[in-house]
Amino acid sequence: MTRFDGTTAIVTGGGSGIGEHTARTLATDGANVVIADVDSENGEATTAEIVDETDSDATFVDVDVTNDDDVEGMVETALEEYGGLDIAVNNAGIGSKLEPTAAVSESDWQRTIDVNLTGVWRCLRSEIDAMVEDDGGAIVNTASILGRVGTQGAPAYTASKHGVLGLTKVAALDYASEDIRVNAVCPGYIDTPMLEEAGLYEDEATVEQLRELHPQGRLGEPQEIADAIAWLCSDEASFATGEAMAIDGGYLSR
Ligand code: NAD
Repeated sequence: MTRFDGTTAIVTGGGSGIGEHTARTLATDGANVVIADVDSENGEATTAEIVDETDSDATFVDVDVTNDDDVEGMVETALEEYGGLDIAVNNAGIGSKLEPTAAVSESDWQRTIDVNLTGVWRCLRSEIDAMVEDDGGAIVNTASILGRVGTQGAPAYTASKHGVLGLTKVAALDYASEDIRVNAVCPGYIDTPMLEEAGLYEDEATVEQLRELHPQGRLGEPQEIADAIAWLCSDEASFATGEAMAIDGGYLSR
């Protein structure tokens, strides 16, 4: 027996980075996984690898978390394919351009909030309905260290992640009596395609500055976040709800 045997999990943003590692970890430990991503190439590749490499099943769904129908379809897929929903990891997210608060365009602001914050709420809404029907479950939202502190030049991203933590706490309170636990992880800077897309790898000096922000002197690996998410999803975390767990090489302890 492995810790997620017989369970069904959804992972949004499951095609890349933290989500990809989380989907593999849950599947390796027995969960059938619905991988939801707007990037169908990566999402389908991860799904095929999980089916080949683990004893679990996986299904890809092409989902934009800003779209109600997509998100409802994602939960319906879990229910139809696997007969229930036990675990949901609301992880899909986007970075934002580095620019000071007054310089951000309204469209960039709105896009970041739509994906990173409203997207999490939209997923929670559908997942919670399914979990209430199914005697409870465990949900983990991917926030950030920037949900707990600020940084210069990322106002929309920082606001969105602070919002994810507020939402996590309220959902935890609202559904504790239904046996649904809702937690969040707050990763430090993690070596995933998101950092590359944000242009942070363009010169070694910037990468070194990022490393130095973490007392452990390095960036995190996506598997280190996946392991924390999997623990929060597991029965070992049965008394944890409303928690914002930092996995950050000491960043927030400075
Ligand atoms: P990533 O770019 O590797 O993965 C993000 C995934 O989300 C991608 O597969 C992407 O296609 C998907 N996605 C983006 N918009 C979507 C949408 N509208 N609908 C569905 N899927 C969508 O990045 P990552 O670093 O693995 O990021 C995962 C989460 O971790 C994000 O929420 C991010 O904000 C958070 N995070 C990342 C870091 C970091 O340093 N990498 C730090 C703290 C928090």
